[in-house]
Amino acid sequence: ACEKEVVRTEKVEKTTPLKTTENKESTNEKIKIGFSMDTLLEERWIKDRDLFKEAVEALGAEVEIMAANGDDALQISQAETLISQGIDLLILVPHNAESTATIVHKAHLAGIKVIAYDRLVKNAEIDLYVSFDNEQVGEMQARAITKLVPKGNYVYIGGASTDNNAHLFKKGAFNVLKPLIDKGDITIVYDQWTKDWEPANALVNMREALKANGNQIDAVIAANDATAGGVIQALLEQGLAGKVPVTGQDAELAAAQRIVEGTQSMTVYKPIKSLTTKAAQLAVALAKGENIYGYQQVNNGKIEVPSVLLSPIAVDLLNIDDTIIADGFHSRQDVYQTL
Ligand code: BGC
Repeated sequence: ACEKEVVRTEKVEKTTPLKTTENKESTNEKIKIGFSMDTLLEERWIKDRDLFKEAVEALGAEVEIMAANGDDALQISQAETLISQGIDLLILVPHNAESTATIVHKAHLAGIKVIAYDRLVKNAEIDLYVSFDNEQVGEMQARAITKLVPKGNYVYIGGASTDNNAHLFKKGAFNVLKPLIDKGDITIVYDQWTKDWEPANALVNMREALKANGNQIDAVIAANDATAGGVIQALLEQGLAGKVPVTGQDAELAAAQRIVEGTQSMTVYKPIKSLTTKAAQLAVALAKGENIYGYQQVNNGKIEVPSVLLSPIAVDLLNIDDTIIADGFHSRQDVYQTL
């Protein structure tokens, strides 16, 4: 629904002829996709891995998956391994938006196209970007929490500064906050990135925020559910969990449970299956040498990247049953089991 029509540019031509799989078609050999992931340490990425594999296989292709657990050098070497294994296309969740540009370059030298999955690769000639509208995610978080707390002291607990999405989430949140800050209704008393998106780092930062402000904090925008977990732990230590609204993102099971328990105000649900289905379909099309055009463009510092951006959904106690539970993202029993 949010794919805008644009005029096609002739950017597709590369100096190295890109690999096509015409020969494979005739020999009935399967198209092979390489999937290089940052991490599998968060619940959402396990879903991405499993559903992407399912979607690729449903299209008659196969996928080789590697995860680097947050290690930049390892992600680069894993991608090199995939490239050397003769994949037809590489799909990539970058841990580091900048340093993974080298992977894109190496893939292109081997005639392999590259799709940035969920997170953009900066300053590289990636062939396609498939994600959610990440600025909208930040706007949803800020809209939901400013409705609950129109005035007061706000904390912003951002994501990993190495992840382009973290910047988009923040941009979206501040689009909504700025007029309220300018009016003097909202004061940002603490604003920090969370190294590698780790809950333990968010916990340390939130403790610092509470201490520096003598616990006078009225609302917290946490960029995702993992960081929200750390924030809520810090609030709990001060007897403030459930009293200070906190946002999140990903609709992780733990976050859904915190929403029904009342310690987290909202999350942003991104139906992973829509993302994997779209990504798999486009990956196989590109691997077959089909041209991709007519998509929205996102600038990555080097080129306008053809992009597909899906719509996220804001979830709170009022619509949790009609969204993540109705979709089977989590079962009702699991979500309400801690009550
Ligand atoms: C993703 C989020 C995720 C975060 C941490 C972001 O790039 O869009 O869904 O919570 O990374 O893994």
